[in-house]
Amino acid sequence: MAAGKLSIVATPIGNLGDITFRGLWNLKECTVVYAEDTRVILKLLNHYGLRKSVFRLDAATEGKKGNEVIERLEKGEHVVYVTDAGTPGISDPGARLVAAVREALPEAKIEAIPGPSALTAALSIAGLQSDEFLFLGFLPHKKGRQTAIKKIAASEYPVVLYESPHRILKLLKELDAAAPKSRVTIARELTKIHEEVLVGSPAELSRQLQAKKAVRGEFVVILSRS
Ligand code: SAM
Repeated sequence: MAAGKLSIVATPIGNLGDITFRGLWNLKECTVVYAEDTRVILKLLNHYGLRKSVFRLDAATEGKKGNEVIERLEKGEHVVYVTDAGTPGISDPGARLVAAVREALPEAKIEAIPGPSALTAALSIAGLQSDEFLFLGFLPHKKGRQTAIKKIAASEYPVVLYESPHRILKLLKELDAAAPKSRVTIARELTKIHEEVLVGSPAELSRQLQAKKAVRGEFVVILSRS
């Protein structure tokens, strides 16, 4: 029997309208969906009136569930993998699954169904020359954090980071200490009702965010030389 197919499908980062036609078609036609969080993908499937068997495959279960996916591909099934938002493998699970399938079943087709990513969405409206940039994803919380901040401050390229609402003020404080004259672009809540882009020095943006009642939402931070 011919080996099956693994489709890595990018999903919306907020606005459910951002799923691509090909993404939807794959979700409709596949044998089964594996998802970082089944509740999140069920919301998307319900929105488009699709019914599918959905199983969880997150960072903690990527190894064990990866074997399950390989067994399905051996039987010729078409498996879709999705994460909660954006492109799998970009600061998200998926890379270990792809590597395991490539190694165990080189004859299986692994295809990208590209679409949204907070990284490219933020860069597209930052107004920078983004031909060259450094993407570091989430910084380590403790060990290695200061080294990463120094690397960012010294970078000759714009640096793109992902940050949570709990740590955004801490990050701005650290950037203010390491690179006070840099230009920071914060792309917040992209594709959602409260989408906004804030631009300023680390200290200015820190003041702006502190002036809000609560710091909420999802953030992409881009640091560049002013
Ligand atoms: N794989 C995803 C992608 O391709 O964008 C990224 C997943 S990562 C676990 C989640 C982080 O992406 C958030 O903490 C935030 O930094 C960023 N992010 C996701 N959705 C966003 C949005 N709508 N607006 C701004 N940042 C977002």
